[in-house]
Amino acid sequence: MHRNLLRLADNKYDVLVVGGGIYGVWCAWDAALRGLSVALVDKGDFGQGTSANNLKIIHGGLRYLQHGDLRRMRESIRERSILMQVAPHLVHPLAFVMPTYRHARPGKAMMAAALAMNDLVGFDRNRSKDPQKRLPAGRVVSRGECLRILPGIAARDLTGGAIWYDCQMSNSDRFILSVLRSAAEAGAEAANYVEVVGFRVERNRVTGVRARDVLADQEFDVRAEVVVNTSGPWADRVLGLVKDCGLAQRFSKAMNLVTRRRIHPG
Ligand SMILES: Cc1cc2nc3c(=O)[nH]c(=O)nc-3n(C[C@H](O)[C@H](O)[C@H](O)COP(=O)(O)OP(=O)(O)OC[C@H]3O[C@@H](n4cnc5c(N)ncnc54)[C@H](O)[C@@H]3O)c2cc1C
Repeated sequence: MHRNLLRLADNKYDVLVVGGGIYGVWCAWDAALRGLSVALVDKGDFGQGTSANNLKIIHGGLRYLQHGDLRRMRESIRERSILMQVAPHLVHPLAFVMPTYRHARPGKAMMAAALAMNDLVGFDRNRSKDPQKRLPAGRVVSRGECLRILPGIAARDLTGGAIWYDCQMSNSDRFILSVLRSAAEAGAEAANYVEVVGFRVERNRVTGVRARDVLADQEFDVRAEVVVNTSGPWADRVLGLVKDCGLAQRFSKAMNLVTRRRIHPG
């Protein structure tokens, strides 16, 4: 892979992808595999944004059950299987345990029903022939078993625990770089430290972007039939660079809390 800004400025691409997080690199790969000419730029390093700060869980959408969104669950389960297949060295099954308490929701009975439903919706999750990629059925366990697995949690009113299996991606940075390299191998032109600072608009149509080489502080145009905005939390700002355009999107917030393994009751 070579950062070739002269080529970026000279060529006209079918697709220009703005933002090299997981969505951007995957989009570039997908488009290049379809035979389109593709350019991908990121204002910093690839995968430096939200994609560098995630919990590394590849989940099958158990939480979507709360809203009865079975379609989204199926989609998550399918994506989880695909990721296990395309990156078997990075995506592995992981057990999750959630203690259940009297008077707290969701209780043990509700979790038992949710796990049964989860297994039903994911009935085809174990089609892979690799035994290491098997996701066992979820189950609820007794209070004693839960305390054995999670010693130190508050025992008062504890009724048991729920165990289910999802996947973990041990190193998501490596994954993003693998997808990026695959995109480059399929013909995509990728350049980091290239920030989109404006759009080329001709006859009311976006025909490319104005880009700035962050390292040399020089601006140039990149021409493209289609510009895809995968700039994550910056999406609104990037879109705002087009005159009279804005997304006014409300983003969701997430944070990771890292604790010691043992949780001591207060
Ligand atoms: C705390 C937390 C935990 C999470 N845990 C999980 C999890 O366990 N499992 C899961 O599946 N998801 C998780 N997510 C969600 C997941 O991380 C995001 O959905 C995903 O990383 C978003 O990727 P993205 O490509 O849209 O955005 P980003 O990774 O943010 O990529 C956007 C890129 O655009 C670039 N950019 C911005 N402006 C410009 C510009 N003007 N010109 C050029 N480039 C630009 C940025 O530099 C950045 O690299 C979590 C999110 C958070 C915040």
